[in-house]
Amino acid sequence: MPTSSSAARGARTTLTVDEALGRILARVAPLEEVEGPLLAAMGSVLARDAIADRDVPSFRNSAMDGYAVRAADVQTADARLRVIGSISAGVMPEGAVGPGEAMRIMTGAPMPEGADTVVRVEDTDNGTDPVTITRATAAGTAVRNAGEDLRRGQRVIAAGTVLRAGEIGVLASLGYERVMTIRRPNVAIVSTGDELVDIDEVPGPGQIRDANRYSLTAAVRAAHCAAFELGIARDDPEDVKHSLGNAAFGDVIVTSGGVSVGDHDHVKPVVDSMGSMDFWSIAIRPGRPLAFGELRTTRGSVPIFGLPGNPVSALLTFELFVRPALLKMAGHTRLNRPRAKARLVDRLEKPTGLRTFARGIYDRDAGSVRSTGPQGSGILSSMALANCLIDLPEGKAAAERGEMVDLILTNLVEDH
Ligand code: AMP
Ligand code: MG
Repeated sequence: MPTSSSAARGARTTLTVDEALGRILARVAPLEEVEGPLLAAMGSVLARDAIADRDVPSFRNSAMDGYAVRAADVQTADARLRVIGSISAGVMPEGAVGPGEAMRIMTGAPMPEGADTVVRVEDTDNGTDPVTITRATAAGTAVRNAGEDLRRGQRVIAAGTVLRAGEIGVLASLGYERVMTIRRPNVAIVSTGDELVDIDEVPGPGQIRDANRYSLTAAVRAAHCAAFELGIARDDPEDVKHSLGNAAFGDVIVTSGGVSVGDHDHVKPVVDSMGSMDFWSIAIRPGRPLAFGELRTTRGSVPIFGLPGNPVSALLTFELFVRPALLKMAGHTRLNRPRAKARLVDRLEKPTGLRTFARGIYDRDAGSVRSTGPQGSGILSSMALANCLIDLPEGKAAAERGEMVDLILTNLVEDH
């Protein structure tokens, strides 16, 4: 949807958010499979189906501390049984349980021959020998059968699954010391701007601290990718060129600043000299200018994102455009954050024609959302307060109090 100001700039393409994302995703593909130690795969996407190499559990065992017995002997409370042994976890039982007999058994210990039921300690007098059963117990109680969890040869985790703590535990139980996953992209991050100083410097007159390199690095890491910060490039074509040369080892390059139409915006011409870059005006607020292209390297072409310099715009365009691309490269099929609908507490005005992403604070219990306050694109504190983005459609000029609005759940506290 072209707007008057972007039409005035003529040469630039104006795209909707969805069109821009579609073009980006069409130009990135999943990376290759890599093998690595199990725990290093946390957050990665499994490349091959994981198959059970044995039944899990591989032997019949007790789910409780108690007495392994024959069900026929414990159908009445007050049955008295001879205790002929004791079985600990990790030890195979010697001998079998016959009629009128019991073996003391610990949780996880193998069931002895002859026994088909475990009576919990709490349902006995805890006798050494004999033991008195104080509650009738049904056949099969507290016995875990072999293969009850997983069957040998069964596909346990499908290729394409994201590995979290639960999957890591299952893979460990199957003996996967090393796993094949889709490699996660390495992301090189460059800030541009003469006004920027690093975190450990005191800004002089007209200078500001470089926030984007840190917020973008953190956002890359939150997406389980490796981030490499390559410092600040000055607003000088040679310096930008030098920084991008250093960044060329990455699977993805992310720059911030220098992509508006100011005199000192060198990113596009420099990238054009090293590859190609499209300059897009996106019908979005905040974060309008976005550059996307490819840098030619000895390894082939590397996607490069030129994000706007405003700290809110930089982080927002990362969230909307870079993060899905990183996830696709890392083999994910679900590229979108979860969404929700909530009742808006405060009225929000927005420019007609621009899809607007207000930073919001979502109260899940109340089903409501309020904005973080002033929504200017330089107000980075709005990002720090937000746990969601309020996604307001292009066509409207405002969202009213009490209206149901769409949310992108970027960062719910419960996720931590
Ligand atoms: P630019 O896109 O280079 O025109 O920058 C737009 C605005 O963002 C200017 O106010 C810059 O000072 C600011 N800015 C650019 N880069 C950064 C950064 N790395 N950290 C904080 N602010 C920045
Ligand atoms: Mg700049």
